[in-house]
Amino acid sequence: MEYKHVLKFGGTSVGSAQRVREVAGLISRDGEPKVVVLSAMSGTTNALVEITSFLYRGERQQAMAATRQLETGYMAIARDLFPAEEPALKAGAFLREIFDYIRSFIDKEFHPLQEKCIVAQGEIISTTLMYYYLLEKGVAATLLPALDFMRVDKDGEPDYFYIRQSLNRLLAAPGVEPLVITQGFICRNAVGEIDNLKRGGSDYSAAIIGGVMNVNEIQIWTDIDGMHNNDPRFVENTSAVRVLSFDEAAELAYFGAKILHPSSVQPAKRASIPVRLKNTLNPGDEGTLITSDSPTRDFKAIAAKDGITAIKIKSSNMLLAYGFLRKVFEVFETWKTPIDTIATSEVAISLTIDDERALEPIVKELETYGAIEIERALSIICVVGDFRATRPGVIARALHALREIPLRVISYGASEHSVSLLVKQEDKRRALVALSSELFDNDNR
Ligand code: ADP
Ligand code: ASP
Ligand code: MG
Repeated sequence: MEYKHVLKFGGTSVGSAQRVREVAGLISRDGEPKVVVLSAMSGTTNALVEITSFLYRGERQQAMAATRQLETGYMAIARDLFPAEEPALKAGAFLREIFDYIRSFIDKEFHPLQEKCIVAQGEIISTTLMYYYLLEKGVAATLLPALDFMRVDKDGEPDYFYIRQSLNRLLAAPGVEPLVITQGFICRNAVGEIDNLKRGGSDYSAAIIGGVMNVNEIQIWTDIDGMHNNDPRFVENTSAVRVLSFDEAAELAYFGAKILHPSSVQPAKRASIPVRLKNTLNPGDEGTLITSDSPTRDFKAIAAKDGITAIKIKSSNMLLAYGFLRKVFEVFETWKTPIDTIATSEVAISLTIDDERALEPIVKELETYGAIEIERALSIICVVGDFRATRPGVIARALHALREIPLRVISYGASEHSVSLLVKQEDKRRALVALSSELFDNDNR
């Protein structure tokens, strides 16, 4: 069977019994073979994370109460989805089993690995309820456990070889239906333990699956009509961008556009498979198409990422020496910490990271090269547009829009389609609004 599409539905898209019914209708309408990737119902992963936080702190009663509350909510959803007695009993028994499993951790000594097992239950619940619902409606479907094929290697990167082989084998097995339902987000690690692709990771699951299956299109169905030209959580009157290139979308996702997991464009780009962002609440809308090339425009979209730390290394005698940058980068490599932006002068290097876990040893090692200054609580603003050197006025307009806002670092010239600007986190909203009103209001949206 040739599976031509992978469709991923996010938390809000499957966030209630009514939404499950609607998505079931959407995925079963045309009878085309497809793989459907589901997130947990909205709020569930947060609730499961909260339960694990209680357990970390040894607060068993709170963990028990939160588990009971989540279970009660799901029992109500099951009653709504399955009015007939027999399927209701089946769904109820399934939910009880899941919540008994979660409760089984509450009585034991808590081990960090168990966190992943608990958090994984959200996607297991949503996919199983969808599967039961489809069966109940007489729609043939196969429920494929992601834990049987999705795996990351020791560096946390998808193990593409294993995933491709396992998925092909599982899909070729007798009895597999054209409609396949699987879990996003969850996977196994290199030693086979339950793991996940980090928060928002269902998009990444869908892109990995679409990439290894070489489908025609990967669709990400969510609660908004595509990638907007600015963050709708902070700026009013944003609007959807109709076409983006893989590189433009990857920059926006990496720099904070929550609609896409930061890594989710890469598997699609690698396999040259278009990604379409669609709105479950308005399925007729064309959404955003992410593909190999897209028409350039002075300004396309803006995103921002918080929690950035800037590290400045000041050294009067070593900076011009060749090999110095390599030594600095090696420190970050040793501590597996990616650098987001970098600016250099004759006497100093400024670079930014978003993963502070190894900050202390990094600073210690860097101190052998010069004086170190750290600044926290910064945001990177990423403006995607046409920043080729032949279009000098474009950067001037972006900077003019930010004339009232102190800029700590500007990263321009590395990418032709984006510029990154570092501001204090408290200035972020103001910066986003200023960019939107000056760059888009009179622009050819
Ligand atoms: P899902 O649960 O479907 O994965 P998410 O909440 O992860 O949905 O992502 C969709 C949300 O991303 C939108 O509701 C919106 O608030 C937020 N968002 C942030 N930046 C953008 C952007 N540039 N375009 C569209 N949505 C964005
Ligand atoms: N359920 C997971 C989360 O909330 C994965 C996802 O929604 O993509 O992070
Ligand atoms: Mg998401």
